[in-house]
Amino acid sequence: MTDCRTIAVANQKGGVAKTTTVASLGAALAELGQRVLVVDLDPQACLTFSLGLDPDTVELSVHDVLLGRVAASMAIHPTPDGPDLLPSTIELAGCEAMLLSRTGREYTLRLALDEVRPSYDVILLDCAPSLGVLTINALTAADEVLMPLQCETLSHRGVGQLLDTVHDVQRLTNRGLSVLGVLPTLFDSRTTHAREVLADVSTRYGLDVITPPIAKSVRFAEAPATGRSILRTAGRTPGAAGYRALARRIAGVADTSEGADADLAGEGALPVDDIAPPVEDVDRVIDLTAAEGVHT
Ligand code: ADP
Ligand code: MG
Repeated sequence: MTDCRTIAVANQKGGVAKTTTVASLGAALAELGQRVLVVDLDPQACLTFSLGLDPDTVELSVHDVLLGRVAASMAIHPTPDGPDLLPSTIELAGCEAMLLSRTGREYTLRLALDEVRPSYDVILLDCAPSLGVLTINALTAADEVLMPLQCETLSHRGVGQLLDTVHDVQRLTNRGLSVLGVLPTLFDSRTTHAREVLADVSTRYGLDVITPPIAKSVRFAEAPATGRSILRTAGRTPGAAGYRALARRIAGVADTSEGADADLAGEGALPVDDIAPPVEDVDRVIDLTAAEGVHT
């Protein structure tokens, strides 16, 4: 046994900030001195690209690892943001079909990661927008699942399906899997609707909602093209602070950084949509600000 903690970031809906969360949280954990591996499990390879690697020139990827061609350690790259990356390429699209014919297909990633687990404190798995074999592999390999949720009408429908899958995995392939919580992303503070959706998801499914939510900000859209996460391109925004707060909770460290509050206040004239609001009326909340005196 090692102390490595593996977290799958999953939601079968696309565009809810799974990849952004893995890149930002990974960088925030690395800032805290954690040894971090991020794994790209999406054939679209957005994580790979956004961490500065060209998927078209990657020679060995998670695809080769899952097919047993190479050990995971042979396909891992360092990245400028700090975490190591097990990259993806479009080849991964064919991997599901190949895995389907294999015995023990759900355990392939879990077994492959055993080799590198002792080298890391945290492994983050960036899932594709589906509940297919690759996502089942991620949930089977994980200790916890983090669910980014864009709070809009019908968001809860996806949560129900994802939870059904989580329960199946808990029953069949990974009894140790637990739900870390729902992470509200692309949060628009100007609408009360977003809060209503969160409150509904929390009561309906009995899920913990992580607060502060990650506010919607154009700064996030700019980051991937630079090959760096938002922690490097816009490190003093509330969104970056939100990911840092979550990283501290995962790493189990108190907020001792200089000017942690200034990170939130220091930007001065932030656009309205950069201000993360408090979440009220939600039954079950993991409040990252309460313990640390961070004000939103
Ligand atoms: P997923 O991996 O779930 O498909 P992504 O992380 O790729 O989602 O995010 C989808 C899009 O939303 C990307 O263009 C990303 O830059 C943007 N995005 C992510 N988080 C935020 C945010 N907090 N504010 C604004 N845009 C965001
Ligand atoms: Mg993605």
